[in-house]
Formats: sequence, structure tokens, C-alpha cells
Amino acid sequence: MKTIAVVGGSLAGLSTARALRHQGFDGRLFIISGERHRPYDRPPLSKTYLAGTVTDAEIALEAADEDLDADWRFGVTALALDPSGRRLDLSDGSALVADGVVLATGASPRSVPGTPRLAGAHVLRSVDDSRSLREDLRPGARLVVVGAGFIGAEVASTARGLGLEVVVVEAASHPLSGPIGAEMGSVVASLHTRHGVELTCGMGVVGLIGGDRVTGVALADGRVVDADVVLVGIGVRPNTEWLRGSGLAAAEGVICDAYGATPVANVVAVGDCAAWYEPALGRHVRFEHWTAARERGAIAAATLLSGGTEFRSGRPPYFWSDQYGLTIQIAGHIAGADSIVVEEGSTADCDFLAVYRRRADPVAVLAMGRGKSFMHWRRQLATAAVSARQE
Ligand code: FAD
Repeated sequence: MKTIAVVGGSLAGLSTARALRHQGFDGRLFIISGERHRPYDRPPLSKTYLAGTVTDAEIALEAADEDLDADWRFGVTALALDPSGRRLDLSDGSALVADGVVLATGASPRSVPGTPRLAGAHVLRSVDDSRSLREDLRPGARLVVVGAGFIGAEVASTARGLGLEVVVVEAASHPLSGPIGAEMGSVVASLHTRHGVELTCGMGVVGLIGGDRVTGVALADGRVVDADVVLVGIGVRPNTEWLRGSGLAAAEGVICDAYGATPVANVVAVGDCAAWYEPALGRHVRFEHWTAARERGAIAAATLLSGGTEFRSGRPPYFWSDQYGLTIQIAGHIAGADSIVVEEGSTADCDFLAVYRRRADPVAVLAMGRGKSFMHWRRQLATAAVSARQE
């Protein structure tokens, strides 16, 4: 392989590019990055960066002296992939033909359907989104957060810290009920209400109201919640539209095997845009997790360079979230769990560790605080996953 093109220059793309070099690739490396910024870390965008307590330099993903000997194309997007010749058409009018292609285009936030763009109404994915939201988070203003997933919950927490009045509207019965389930979601609900957030669950949002600027959020029951600023955090869609015609543009993400290989030879996908086969679940899953985007770069690189077939994606999925000074961590798969037992601490104090089990076997662990015990359980889950694969 003499030329490899990485499409997407953020966490997954950078991790894969690093791994390619680390694993001995010494050919030409192109990195096509739709953004104008050098790679930066996204988790602080809803937390410390949004709060204004860390700088741009502190969220950089590259070390100052890092040099991958790569040809970076900033502010350039890939518009199409011709799978037969691995030819990429780029937005600057040029084209690239590569021996190997890494798809690492991430995901984009969903907006409330049918809603026009209004000043004061935000989504949050990029550093520019975070800066623009931060300008609107003035003490005493009223923020309405649509969606109590991780991003919505973290922005609510940060905004309370900045002195805003915060209302959260969530369509599901509890915050974070997808990733942690309703029972533990009720603990997160209590955490938010304890910190002065007005939380309405089980309520859809039908639109945003306003002229030039947003003034309210219209609820499914006909009410309107007044707002000075709105954050819409209702999930993301993988950036795969540009792959239309290549056979790889599935709405649920680029379908890959358990090593990142796509159905097209010498094309791999990694990070938030990719749905890898998950042996533990017997289906393809797209994780929107920092750790997956970072760790799987090495596997995708090995797949591309050596067609690796040895199973190396050992660790169960892991996600953390910081809210109101607490770190919430979850590892494993909660799907199919038939019991949740609080093994340590107390949910009432928001200081606990809970284990999800299926037929008595631990399948996931959730903690608020309790970092040391959580690490122990996370390791145990990883060991169990390795033994299950060897059986
Ligand atoms: P992205 O980071 O989305 O990067 C994809 C890149 O590809 C982007 O730069 C995009 O512009 C570019 N691109 C898209 N299309 C094209 C194209 N056609 N051509 C060229 N370039 C293209 N995870 C956690 O585990 N814990 C957290 O606390 C946490 N907090 C988060 C907070 C926020 C605000 C956000 C947005 C995410 C958070 N995450 C967190 C998730 C984590 O950041 C993501 O899983 C990770 O960024 C995924 O990396 P990626 O490289 O796959 O995708």
C-alpha cells in the first residue's frame, strides 16, 4: 500500500493515522478534514470548554511536536467515493486515488424537524458550536434544553454552574434512559432537579418559536416553554450521505465487520460513523464513544495494512459523563440485562456503583463517583468478554 487517505481529521481519523504510522506504514498519508481547525477534543465542549475554564490549546488532540508526515487538507470535504478505484472527489475540485481509505467522518447533530434556523437556538458538535452557545449562556438567562441525553444533560449542568435558569424537556420517561435504562435514569433525574433544573420527561417537542431569535419551545401538549436560548440535543446521524453510490451509505452507519473492514476491499471505517459487528450482541452497533473512536483506530489500521483477522477489540464499550462535579461512568452492554443491583453506596446520595446482570452474569456496570471500584468492575467485564470469546 503506497497511498492511504483518511477522511475525517478528528479523534478517530487521527488515531487511525497515528496507528498506521506506528504499524509501519511509510507511504503517502492524506487526511481530509472537513473542519478548518486542527484536531481537538470534543468532550470538553459541553463541559469545561463551554464553561470557559479551559483554552483552545488545552483541547488540542495533537502534541505541539507531533508530525505524522501527513498531507492535511483542512476545510475540505470528501464529496464522493468511487469504490472500484478508491477515488475520492473533494470539495476543492480535486480528486484523490488511494490504495487504502479510512472513513472517519463522525456524526452530525439532529435538529427539530421543520424548524427554521433561529438565533439563540443551538446544536453542539464542534468547537464553533460551543463558542457560539457559550456567548448566549448569560447568567440569569433562561435556557431550554431539548433532549436529556448526555450532551443535553451536560449542557444543563454547565449552564446551571454559569447561573442560568434551566428547563430540560425529554421525550422518554427518564434522562439517559437509552444508555443506562429507566431505573438508573431516575437517579440522573433527581441529580438534575436537586441542582435546580426544571425537568419535564415523557414530553415531545414539536417546534421552536420565534422571529429572528428563538423565544420559546412548543411542546406536544400545546404548551410553549419560554426561552432566551435553546440547546437541541436529540441525537446525531452518522455522516454517511456523501457515500451515496458507493454502497456504504447506510443510515445506521457504515457497516463493518468486527475489525472495521467494510464490504469494499481496502476501505475501513472507524469512530462515530461506523457500525462495527459486536460479537457480544450478535449485531452491528454504532458507538458514539470517545474511547471506541480512539482505541479502534489501531484495529482499523491493522485491518487495512495486514487484513487482520485476529480479534483485538477486547474491551466492552465505555462512556463517561461529567455532571454537577460528578463523574458518571458506564461500561458494557445493558441490552438484555434482567437485574440491576446497587453493589456499593446509595442512589439517594448519587454516590454508588450498580451492576447490570443477565441470568446472574454481569453485563454492564454504572457508577456515579466510585471511580476505583468502577475500574475494578470494568476490568472484570473485559476479562469475562475475553473468556466468552475463547469458549
Ligand atoms: P467526530 O469527532 O465527529 O469527527 C469527524 C470529523 O470528520 C469532523 O471533523 C467532521 O467535520 C469531519 N467530516 C465529516 N464529513 C466529512 C467529509 N465528507 N469529508 C471530510 N471530513 C468530514 N464521549 C465520551 O465517551 N465521553 C464524553 O464525555 C463525551 N462528551 C462529548 C461531548 C460533546 C459535546 C460531543 C460532541 C461528543 C462527546 N463525546 C463523548 C463523544 C466523542 O467526542 C465522539 O465519540 C468522538 O468525537 C468521535 O470521534 P470521530 O472522529 O468518530 O467523529
